[in-house]
Amino acid sequence: MENFKKTKLRNSLIVVFVIITAFLSYQCLGEEEGDPKLSEVWDPVPKIVTPGENNTPPSDAIILFDGTNFNEWETTDGAEPKWQLVDGAMTVVKKTGSIKTKKSFGDCQLHIEWRTPAKVEGEGQGRGNSGIFLQERYEVQVLDSYNNVTYSNGQAGSIYKQFIPMVNACRPPGVWQTYDIFFNAPKFNEDGTVEVPGFVTVVQNGVLVQNHVELQGPTAYIGKPTYETHNAKEPISLQDHGNPVSYRNIWIREL
Ligand code: MG
Repeated sequence: MENFKKTKLRNSLIVVFVIITAFLSYQCLGEEEGDPKLSEVWDPVPKIVTPGENNTPPSDAIILFDGTNFNEWETTDGAEPKWQLVDGAMTVVKKTGSIKTKKSFGDCQLHIEWRTPAKVEGEGQGRGNSGIFLQERYEVQVLDSYNNVTYSNGQAGSIYKQFIPMVNACRPPGVWQTYDIFFNAPKFNEDGTVEVPGFVTVVQNGVLVQNHVELQGPTAYIGKPTYETHNAKEPISLQDHGNPVSYRNIWIREL
């Protein structure tokens, strides 16, 4: 009988101990879960950027082309561009060569508007071909891909010969189109090997066509791309592919 009482008492004590422990644990947990301040981060404070209105650039953008001059551009040989400047747009003049920005850029957000000729000429890669080369190496293809069949990894919105666009978001020839490009430049080790590859996201006319794709190397027309070390910042170039493609409203934000 005495033993039975002892056991009963011991069991009761255990139950009380478990209840108290559980209660205390719940209190501690409850405090953490119940205090929103513990998960608030107040520093740093994002700097203020005034967004653009009616297709104008945000306040912290570097204007690369506002339609009035070639001040930010030069040929790949460093000469004055010979492209046409008409009605707030620049247009490729065949055989005058590609042009590039005088400034160099690494990680960036690039806004650029382009238009392939209203008068449809040529086919496949020969129709409204140009291109935006990030760091003079990584091409986001510009092409009239409206009712114009070519290899998928070479149509508009492709990362040329590397990534097919997720969809064809092209507007008809002669109509202005937009690219908003988000670029993480590749990083190289001192021995020239790749530390971090480049990544590109492309939104065409408000439609996502490339979602953070990993660049395999510089754009290669023939064969496999292979990374070669280059500066952390390099110019952006626009391709003269012999077709009178136009560009306007080009701005960039360094990230
Ligand atoms: Mg091209």
